[in-house]
Amino acid sequence: MRLVPAPAGSGVVFRRSDLDNFEIPATGRNVAKVSYATSLMRQGVLISTTEHLLSALIGLGVDNVIVEIDNLEVPILDGSARPYVEAMLAAGLKRQRRKREYIRILKPVEVREGEGPTAKFIGVYPGEGYSIDYSIDFPSPIGHETFVGDLEAGDYANLIAPARTFGFREDEPMLRNMGLIRGASDQCAIIIGGGEVQNGELRFHDEFVRHKVLDLIGDLALAGRRIWGKVVAERAGHAMHTALVQRLLRDRSAWELAHRSALGLREAVTTESGAHAVALAHSPAA
Ligand SMILES: [Zn+2]
Repeated sequence: MRLVPAPAGSGVVFRRSDLDNFEIPATGRNVAKVSYATSLMRQGVLISTTEHLLSALIGLGVDNVIVEIDNLEVPILDGSARPYVEAMLAAGLKRQRRKREYIRILKPVEVREGEGPTAKFIGVYPGEGYSIDYSIDFPSPIGHETFVGDLEAGDYANLIAPARTFGFREDEPMLRNMGLIRGASDQCAIIIGGGEVQNGELRFHDEFVRHKVLDLIGDLALAGRRIWGKVVAERAGHAMHTALVQRLLRDRSAWELAHRSALGLREAVTTESGAHAVALAHSPAA
């Protein structure tokens, strides 16, 4: 996989170098099936597991880039966005002349699923910056975790990017049957089993919810432009995140395009394409 600088106004475009450079723009209209990871599809051509890379791009403020990839799966690497962030920071970012277009939220848009204490919820509201308030409830050892932060004012590279995806050992046979685990998983996810983390130290005491924030940022990138507003999520996951994007894009009265300055890459970035394994992604509850 290779990240290539793109002119202002391009947005994020995936390019399948193994399929005559077929292009799939990272927009809500190309969202394919969403369960353990977010995938894009256009005219039958798939790009899977887009969320961590898209999150890194939004987190660093990269608006325009071509993602050349010779495979249908974006590399999972260590299960976080940190390797992407490090590679892009090493290559450098450059300010582009055209102003960045934001989706500025004008009125609430919400998606709910279920009722009672297990209900899932996500909503986006008018607000300054890009603030996120995420809470999750999972079986032990995760429990209840909440993370509140502002992407415009905060430090994505240090606070969000390192948080790894997680999965439950019990789900492994099912995920394997679904073809969702294709390689060594302990190196690319936090593995939970028997009520405890089975593969080493956490990077944050609340790494789980931080990873959900990472995913949310990546999935909301599919709105095609950066969000200007406040997002609240409770027990959500990829399907809820992308449902919000689609509801938001359909309700043209809920947002307007607004402008601030834009960023692009200074030079191309290549990541190792060896690690194609899809980790034990998220629990079915997520
Ligand atoms: Zn994830």
